[in-house]
Order: sequence, then structure tokens, then C-alpha cells
Amino acid sequence: MSETLRRVILSDGSPLEYTLVRGGVKNINLRVRTDGTVRVSAPARVPVGTADSIVLGRAEFIRSAREELRRREERRPAPERRIPEAECRAAIRAAVDAVYPAFRSMGVPYPELRFRDMKTRWGVCRYRDGIVTFNTRLAYAPRECIEYVAAHELCHFIHPDHSARFHALMASVMPDYRERKRRLSESAAAWL
Ligand SMILES: [Zn+2]
Repeated sequence: MSETLRRVILSDGSPLEYTLVRGGVKNINLRVRTDGTVRVSAPARVPVGTADSIVLGRAEFIRSAREELRRREERRPAPERRIPEAECRAAIRAAVDAVYPAFRSMGVPYPELRFRDMKTRWGVCRYRDGIVTFNTRLAYAPRECIEYVAAHELCHFIHPDHSARFHALMASVMPDYRERKRRLSESAAAWL
């Protein structure tokens, strides 16, 4: 059993709001959550006044934690630029589907597609296992650039290297692949 109270106390003349949850824990614990709200959990018998003075005593910590959260939020892309994970996957899958027919005619089976947020690579082809892992950040790139990465990874099922033969194959399935590659690195600079 626990009881939840919404408290507002004054710290240096400004209201400081927090949520007090009493019961179910052995120790008093104060946490600033990622949305900036403050939550104190405490044993059932702890008086409200005690919780208030603990929050008051940590007001400076709460202020700096909120400031840090605000800075972190500013560094992230604006919400309208964020593409939900499911949409990232769908966009990449559609690009693979678009380039796949050329590879099917060369006898390449449709690979298992995996998705991961990666820092340094657009895709990884495990040609022996028939698996291609795509960087979900690709979804922010123009469609033709996603198709370039899809074709690159599918080419690895025939040439698992970056040899002259690999590049010749790339040029045969996607004549403008160098141009698409260049556009991908240019556009990535803006959102990576
Ligand atoms: Zn490669």
C-alpha cells in the first residue's frame, strides 16, 4: 500500500513542486525524472514535513538536474524531425524491396532484415547467414540514398568485399550509385 501526495513548497521564494509517495520502501529517495518532475519515495511513517525539508535541502541539486535536462533536450533533434522506429523500418524495407528484383534475378535470396541504431555504419551484411542489418538513422536520408545502401549490402551477397568487381556490379545495378553515396554523406552531416 502506498499513498501519493502532490506537494508544493517554497524555495527561495519560488514554488517547488514534487510528488511524495509514502509506503513500500525502506529509505527516502529523491529523484528528478527525465521530464523534470521531482519524485520522493519514503517509508509510510515519514512525516510530510520531513519530506518537505529534504526536498528543500536538495533544491540546488534539483535546479541543476533540470538545467542539465534542458541542455540535453536542446541538443536533440526537434520532435518533428524524429521518425518513429516503426516508420524507420518501413522506409528501409521499402527501399530494399525496390532494389531487390535485380538481385533476385542473380539468385540472391531475400535477406533477413535487421535494424539497429548505429554510430558509424549504414549497414552490415552477414552474407553467410543471409542477414543484413541496417542503421535505422538511414530513414532520415533521401529515399534514393537508402536504396543506394540497400543495393550496396545486397551486392555483398555476390562480392563480399569492396573489390573492383564489387564496384562493377554496383554500377550495373545502380549506374548513379557514386552520386547517391555522395548525397548520403552530405545530407547525413545535417542530422547524424
Ligand atoms: Zn560494404
